[in-house]
Amino acid sequence: MSRPVPSVAVRPHVCTACSLLCDDVQVRVDGERVVSVEPACPKAVERLTSTAIAATCAVGGKAADYERAVAAAAELLAAAKMPVVTGLQYATVAAMRAAIELAERLGATIDPIDDRGRSGEFAAVQSVGAVTATLGEIAARADLVVNWFVDPVATHPRLRERLGDSPTLGAATGATRQWIDVATKLQATDAAESARVLRALLQDAPLDEQRAETTAGVPLAKWRDLADQLAAAKYVAFVFDETTLGVDDRDDQRRLAKVALAELVAALHQHTRCVALPLAPGGNLAGVRQTLTWQTGFPGAVTFASGAPEYHPDEATGQQMLARGEADAVLVVGGDPLGKHSTWSPTARDAFCSTPTIVIDSTDTATRQAAAVALAVRPFHIAEAGSVFRTDGVALPLAAAVDSHLPSCEQVLRDIAAALLSRGG
Ligand code: SF4
Repeated sequence: MSRPVPSVAVRPHVCTACSLLCDDVQVRVDGERVVSVEPACPKAVERLTSTAIAATCAVGGKAADYERAVAAAAELLAAAKMPVVTGLQYATVAAMRAAIELAERLGATIDPIDDRGRSGEFAAVQSVGAVTATLGEIAARADLVVNWFVDPVATHPRLRERLGDSPTLGAATGATRQWIDVATKLQATDAAESARVLRALLQDAPLDEQRAETTAGVPLAKWRDLADQLAAAKYVAFVFDETTLGVDDRDDQRRLAKVALAELVAALHQHTRCVALPLAPGGNLAGVRQTLTWQTGFPGAVTFASGAPEYHPDEATGQQMLARGEADAVLVVGGDPLGKHSTWSPTARDAFCSTPTIVIDSTDTATRQAAAVALAVRPFHIAEAGSVFRTDGVALPLAAAVDSHLPSCEQVLRDIAAALLSRGG
């Protein structure tokens, strides 16, 4: 007599709730749900045990079967002259490749966005470069880590542990590492100006002391102490949130702050070894940039309108194309540009709402609710399988922790492409 298959099991899992992609996580699953997570990182628990899953497809706001929704999506895209493909933060490399192929077939623009609707900012790296390192190298070598206007305890809760500062992992390096939190310890407010002040001090360059104290918000003596501390360290690692560095969520401010940090890192190399590790949000944002770059040559804002990939970072973001009234269809692959945390302008939001949109998502977001066609997929964090990239650029295999009756994101994109092909599109 066969025994019943237990519905509860404990499985190893790569956590994608933040971009550290901890691969030592164990999840207890019950059917299609994760019920507990070990270690109990608060962010992982919140994300992996979420039960808010959109399991049905819809066309025109009414429930529809999968085949009808795929056909409706293909019809909308086939009719568009200038479609935009966006989202992609929560997608495996295979799904991204399918999205890029679809964008190429459509002559569309493809522009990944993060949780808050922001397109990537690459001008800083392209103009001044970046000196970075893997988590492993920083864990092994850094004796000073600077939280550069970021709060990893809130955004990447196990960062310290991943860098070897837990009792178990720390024993391997034997290093005594110092951590400095610039924003909270020194009450500094302006990341770009703070980097400029430190760079000037490290380079013994002329500095307007009054202006520095006013704009960076910190007495110069404190900056001198920090500059001395940085220069005296053997290996300094700055960690920063590449999506929020700067002020007011403005792209130009993010760019200035990233350039200033890159220049500070370069200046510190006159004294010691130094790297800057970007902390991306959760999902696979590092992966989408890698995949888009190796497939098209560019990390974002790529348009296939001419038949070949072209890069227009200051013109071809999804938000800009909508705000200018150019996009006539939008395919959102996991993203919520209409959500309450979105930084999209009212003009772009209004344009989005009056443009035919297709949303592929596993959660019932405001964007999905506004979609002409909504397609349900397996939840990325617990049920997708494929390749994902950690924030330091290391690729990891993602295995599904739970079974799902829903299709993968890659499958949905390939089914839409097949439906387009059968229409002659
Ligand atoms: S630190 Fe990030 S990747 Fe690691 S368990 Fe917590 S949320 Fe998941």
